[in-house]
Amino acid sequence: MFSYDFKNGQPLPASRGLANSKELSCMSGFCDRCDEKTSRMINITSVAELAAVAHLGYRNVCDACYEDLLTEASEVEEGEEDRRSEPRVKVTIKARVEGNTSHLEAFSEDMTIEEISPSGLRLHTPRDLDPGAVLKVLVPSHSVEATAIVEVVWKDGGQRAVGLKLIEPGDGWSALWEAYEPEE
Ligand SMILES: [Zn+2]
Repeated sequence: MFSYDFKNGQPLPASRGLANSKELSCMSGFCDRCDEKTSRMINITSVAELAAVAHLGYRNVCDACYEDLLTEASEVEEGEEDRRSEPRVKVTIKARVEGNTSHLEAFSEDMTIEEISPSGLRLHTPRDLDPGAVLKVLVPSHSVEATAIVEVVWKDGGQRAVGLKLIEPGDGWSALWEAYEPEE
């Protein structure tokens, strides 16, 4: 009888409790984020303000975590705002790049820097790189040595580009940026 109902997707009588299960699960349960039992779960899957933290995969969270996530989401959005507003310029600069691929193979290779900003760069590379990888970038023409972390990986057919954020943009990088900085 029960299986018959499930198979046909018919809701069971409300008295069985199942028809209300969705509603009930929103009222109490365990928070996906802190694992605490809470009397009021909030389903965040369709909360627009939390789109920026959707990748974390939480579905139902407690009040406190909901507040935390709202803060986190707004910080993520501000961060993206900052990056978008940062000036950048297209360049073609040869650089020697050292690091490890996503397959943990160490490499030291000449690559082309395609774009620079005061705190980051974009590299053209045939290598498989993962976000979070730390690379050493050497620009012999400007005697620059910088350490940068992979933030974004773009794949377009066989082509690959990575967006890097400098861990500590030093004087060398500032000088490089000033040499290419677009005039106002
Ligand atoms: Zn929680």
